[in-house]
Amino acid sequence: MPEGDTIFRSARALDRALAGRTVTRFETVVATLARGDDQHQLTGRTVERVEARGKWLLIHFSGDLILLTHMLMNGSWHIYRPGEAWRRARRHMRLVIETDEWHAVGFTVPIAEFHTAASLARRGGAVTIGPDLLDEEFNEQQAIAAVLERPSEEIAVVLLNQHVLAGIGNVFKSEICFACGIHPFRRVSSLSRHEAEKLVEVAQRYLKMNVTEDSAEAPTENANARRTTGSLDRSARLWVYGRLGEACRRCGASILMRRQGSEARTTFWCPECQPLNAPAGSQTTEPRAVEGWTRRPRAR
Ligand SMILES: [Zn+2]
Repeated sequence: MPEGDTIFRSARALDRALAGRTVTRFETVVATLARGDDQHQLTGRTVERVEARGKWLLIHFSGDLILLTHMLMNGSWHIYRPGEAWRRARRHMRLVIETDEWHAVGFTVPIAEFHTAASLARRGGAVTIGPDLLDEEFNEQQAIAAVLERPSEEIAVVLLNQHVLAGIGNVFKSEICFACGIHPFRRVSSLSRHEAEKLVEVAQRYLKMNVTEDSAEAPTENANARRTTGSLDRSARLWVYGRLGEACRRCGASILMRRQGSEARTTFWCPECQPLNAPAGSQTTEPRAVEGWTRRPRAR
């Protein structure tokens, strides 16, 4: 699933490319959008702005029309100059919004709906999300409270729940727990106040760290560029995610993986750095990679 930072970057790139421009052509294979006259109605409208709300991407057009999209697992938006070759096959195309300067192409976007401001408000549920970690008005205390409201749930499951905190995807979920020294399968009820604060602080920092650079020209799917370790080495960008059996960059223990939650999402952790029964006041400092552990599996 694209993480909140990916959606945020997509929205920003689309906003830079499209805002203020007039739609010259619209094409879609999404049945719900192709219905009626919607596609004709889009042509001639001006793109007012593009925004991310958690994992939802909203394109606002003049005359109270909003295109709501969600990427789920494999969706992505690309931006191309007219005539430029697409980097994904045409069969994956779901939507094309053309202006004279830029073409925005939505690939394998599974959810796409047209709304007015009123119908979007009525839709409720699915776009009702928790505090957005990338929102400028993000309220840390409110976010901590939202996490602590779910004492019986496993910590990593709560981090992934967009109704609690908006923006954390499956990669960052594991990375945030590692950075905090917190076992992802612990219950929220076992969290100290300090640990809850740390989780929220690290979550916000990791997401922000990953939205710093972008350009309208670049394809907006950027999952492979995600990083948390601060390392410039492309092979050492993440602490634990995707590293089953490899050596922990901090202590050298073998990274573990288990499926977690009702959706059986993969969760990675270090059994040494993230003990299941964390004694009170355990690791509170940010992990630092130890030279030599980066690539070498642990010798047993
Ligand atoms: Zn470790």
